Amino acid sequence: MVQSAILGFPRIGPNRELKKITESYWKGKASVDELLKVGKDIRAANWKLQKEAGVDIIPSNDFSYYDQVLDLSLLFNVVPERYTKYDLSQLDTLFAMGRGLQRKATETEKAVDVTALEMVKWFDSNYHYVRPTFSHSTQFKLNGQKPVDEFLEAKELGVQTRPVLLGPVSFLYLGKADKDSLDLEPLSLLDKLLPLYKEILNKLHAAGATEVQLDEPVLVLDLEKSAQDAIRKAYEYLGKQSNVPKITLATYFGTVVPNLDALKGLPVAGLHFDFVRAPCQFEKVLSVVDKNQTLSVGIVDGRNIWKNNYAKSSELVNKAIEKLGADRVIVATSSSLLHTPVDLENETKLDPEIKDWFSFATQKVKEVVVIAKNVSGADVKAELEANAKSVAARAASKRTNDEAVQKRVSSINEKMATRAAPFPQRLAEQKKVFNLPLFPTTTIGSFPQTKDIRINRNKFVKGTISAEEYEKFINSEIEAVIRFQEEVGLDVLVHGEPERNDMVQYFGEKIQGYTFTVNGWVQSYGSRYVRPPIIVGDLSRPEAMSVKESVYAQSITTKPVKGMLTGPVTCLRWSFPRDDVDQKTQALQLALALRDEVDDLEAAGIKVIQVDEPAIREGLPLRAGEERSAYLKWAAEAFRVATSGVQNKTQIHSHFCYSDLDPSHIKALDADVVSIEFSKKDDPNYIAEFKDYPNHIGLGLFDIHSPRVPSKEEFISKIRNILKTYPADKFWVNPDCGLKTRDWEETKASLTNMVAAAKYFREQY
Ligand code: GLN
Ligand code: ZN
Repeated sequence: MVQSAILGFPRIGPNRELKKITESYWKGKASVDELLKVGKDIRAANWKLQKEAGVDIIPSNDFSYYDQVLDLSLLFNVVPERYTKYDLSQLDTLFAMGRGLQRKATETEKAVDVTALEMVKWFDSNYHYVRPTFSHSTQFKLNGQKPVDEFLEAKELGVQTRPVLLGPVSFLYLGKADKDSLDLEPLSLLDKLLPLYKEILNKLHAAGATEVQLDEPVLVLDLEKSAQDAIRKAYEYLGKQSNVPKITLATYFGTVVPNLDALKGLPVAGLHFDFVRAPCQFEKVLSVVDKNQTLSVGIVDGRNIWKNNYAKSSELVNKAIEKLGADRVIVATSSSLLHTPVDLENETKLDPEIKDWFSFATQKVKEVVVIAKNVSGADVKAELEANAKSVAARAASKRTNDEAVQKRVSSINEKMATRAAPFPQRLAEQKKVFNLPLFPTTTIGSFPQTKDIRINRNKFVKGTISAEEYEKFINSEIEAVIRFQEEVGLDVLVHGEPERNDMVQYFGEKIQGYTFTVNGWVQSYGSRYVRPPIIVGDLSRPEAMSVKESVYAQSITTKPVKGMLTGPVTCLRWSFPRDDVDQKTQALQLALALRDEVDDLEAAGIKVIQVDEPAIREGLPLRAGEERSAYLKWAAEAFRVATSGVQNKTQIHSHFCYSDLDPSHIKALDADVVSIEFSKKDDPNYIAEFKDYPNHIGLGLFDIHSPRVPSKEEFISKIRNILKTYPADKFWVNPDCGLKTRDWEETKASLTNMVAAAKYFREQY
């Protein structure tokens, strides 16, 4: 009988239970026991669900209160000293590392003031992990035994699980050196780290774990020889230990073929590959599966919501069975299901025709089981027939095709994707319009999304307040944000985005070809979840989407207000895309919709328009080569199609965050001003990379994921540091990203200090 396996299950709970309790805990409204109880219940429910569905290999340690990579940093005591001096509990240390902590002294507790560790995108997904941060003084040791505890917890519930841990090479490779140890190469720490992996594997074994899943997703990157050698070394070491569970080495999100040599002949029990993202690696990877190893066939998509095609999947699995035999093949999800919403059954408002095309984590669990049964010869005829029917219905549906859109995309030409004049000339014309001071200050767009805003939005959605009442409310919010920015002394204002639930969903709801869920939440980072809209058909914009709010904001101030849009690539990346049309086509369809919006904003008198592309970096194919160059070309083209219809004097801004950006990638967008996340990039080499960026740039000066308020002096020293390498006349002053997740109090204090620092430098220059 072919076995079925799940690589990881969402941990947020079917109704975002984890978010709710975590945030209450942070606010001091829930106790630690209440928080732990919710965590425990979620884990129990997840295990039960998988067991009842008939899954053979069920994961544990896929749960986390913040981030699974951060858990590992804590487990191995990779905790920078700055977090250890406050006597925080383990859990509070975890949260302090994840999101920073600033708190006044009380009778019982010391004052705390510590920034968060850097957070970056998990490969090409919209999940963010907290970067392991190493220094020369890191003292590797086991700090607790979370994987063992959770394994035992499942065992007590009668569920034998396969614990999952990020493997040692990925853990180091995805980390970085702390600012006091910049010469440290994380991979050089492998020898110190491996004994800890051994120790935790021994403990798991002693607790009764027979198998463990070690994830090495870095194997889908272009690895240097040193990293490939590290893989060999790590698994030769771990695989040869006695008293450890059998190891399955898992890779996902791409092909491992260029790193295949590193996998040959490793003493591990099984290998897992992602055949959804990289079906082409099938023959090659099969050739490295040793005669005593199992092959885990990742065939149910962990990154998208489309129903699996049973016939197609079974065919591939059967090919593997032919070569290896049924007892050496496992049917699995392509990656953890962390990236998919929890349960389609919770969707009460989806059109039944469309709903039938989808499959969320809970459904995917069943899909893995059905495929495994099917290739084992069990009777799943009814399931197969129903599946074939919905796959065919989707392919034939009228909802997917719009000829007018397809025609317009094919008419895109170079002129449409090029501004009328080059940047220097545009800048000269823009200077006449805006007359901005040196170190112009601005924000990225959103202001605190208060409870009041959410309540009113809900009332409007439910129909308990009218459209007019809601508009009045939104306008009053916009006015407050405008007055606030005037008072603080910002130069280029924003309307604050109070009308937007989410930067992609808001536009998606106004674009034809999209559909939405009511409960399709996916963890983005920590307690922040997103509800990606789903692209089901060709995309177009029936009417203006953002003009009303921008025009209102501009009408009540003499300072320039930025029109604020989400760029085509970000709309695409932060949605679940179609899998029947290529991404470029979907991006260009979105670009045309946005181009109409940009033109409408300009015609309505908006002089600065920001088109955010925070997801542009995450879309970058993970390996260098043809696919990556093609992506860079079409992603930039989509942005330029959206923004090049305007006059020279209209200033186009863009914004990027959460990633190591290569300045050469953003150059091709030809935006007049870009703002990027920067507050945690202390490395002077990184600053230097931006020195030659030809247009203007705002290097983010404070972390908006953290409630911490930097002082004026801190801003001054940051700016001074950047000015050592970066020219003053191109320098905008702004935060890392939008302020929607912050409170007003922190926002006011931070922006006041930021503007004061900009003014200080104006006097110096
Ligand atoms: N304009 C958006 C905001 O401020 C940008 C958000 C983002 O880059 N993630 O919220
Ligand atoms: Zn951002």
